[in-house]
Amino acid sequence: MIHFRLLAVSLFAIVLAGTAACRTPAVAPDLTRFEFERPQMGVPFRITFYAETAARADAAAAAAFARVAALNASLSDYEEDSEITRLSKTAGSGRAVPVAADLWNVLAAAQKLSARSAGAFDVTVRPLVQVWRRARRQREMPSLDRLAAARDVTGYQHLELDARHHTATLKLPGMQLDLGGIAKGYAADEALKTLRAHGITRALVAVAGDMTAGDAPPGKAGWRVEVPSLDVPGAPPAQFVLLANAALSTSGDLFQRLELGGKRYSHIIDPRSGRPVTDHSLVTLIARDCTTADSLATAVSVLGPEAGLALVRRTRGAEARVHSQPEEKFHTVETAGFRRFLEAP
Ligand code: AMP
Ligand code: MG
Repeated sequence: MIHFRLLAVSLFAIVLAGTAACRTPAVAPDLTRFEFERPQMGVPFRITFYAETAARADAAAAAAFARVAALNASLSDYEEDSEITRLSKTAGSGRAVPVAADLWNVLAAAQKLSARSAGAFDVTVRPLVQVWRRARRQREMPSLDRLAAARDVTGYQHLELDARHHTATLKLPGMQLDLGGIAKGYAADEALKTLRAHGITRALVAVAGDMTAGDAPPGKAGWRVEVPSLDVPGAPPAQFVLLANAALSTSGDLFQRLELGGKRYSHIIDPRSGRPVTDHSLVTLIARDCTTADSLATAVSVLGPEAGLALVRRTRGAEARVHSQPEEKFHTVETAGFRRFLEAP
């Protein structure tokens, strides 16, 4: 049932072919590059790494995908029977619901960021996400009543976590959780951990715009990752980042958006207004782990360049760049260390 798309490129062959790897004597000649891709969490999940044998590679990849499938079954609000969906159904019951380790880790990280971002990042945003998804399907603005009803049941301060007992309480009836802004990053981190547990250290895990890297490929400074640019006139071309033992996430309305009355609405909601972000922007966020990169990128999309970068500067090990075009004018800001990660031109 499991079909891996396997691409194995013998590094030894590359050395013989006289490419860059040839000039790096540190390269172990018996390491082979493997690439596996499978749909997971509604997107292609790609794992690339170097291993000694195909058997070891297959075993490590199978374990990583199994880990991600298990996380999807727990964290996806698209699954009727996931742990997160079942938790949402307890909203307003007054019950403190015990949550398993992964869901706990994700909820705890999310709530911490909600507090740090003054509510810009908020996993209780699902009722609003649903209202705007419906608007996108129907191509019409939601009614004010519908919006007000969704706003009434949104707010991270109504999600109570008990760190001693690992329980969660959704205090308002109708509250619903959506981990779409953080779960892919967590899954990428966990996939990388699984590979490491299998002795694979030179690895890259990429889930759509979220990726995390272990050690660099043999003889290289990092994994070469393309960072898209904004699709507007005057925007610079896409660039490449070299990533090793770090994570990178992009967030913005480049791929998912609603256009109504000449206005462009992101799939990211500003929980404070109940409305989608409309600053046409693209956030590239680099952090020590992908849980942080993914969630922080979403938070910066909501906060905008100025407040967003201020939050990034307060996050140890994080760097970011924000391309935006709020009013026809293209604009870029970045933290001081962002360029360190760019491939030299
Ligand atoms: P990303 O693509 O990582 O920026 O995450 C976007 C997804 O996160 C959306 O599709 C929603 O499922 C969810 N989301 C939207 N707005 C927010 C928000 N303000 N805070 C947390 N998650 C959000
Ligand atoms: Mg994100």
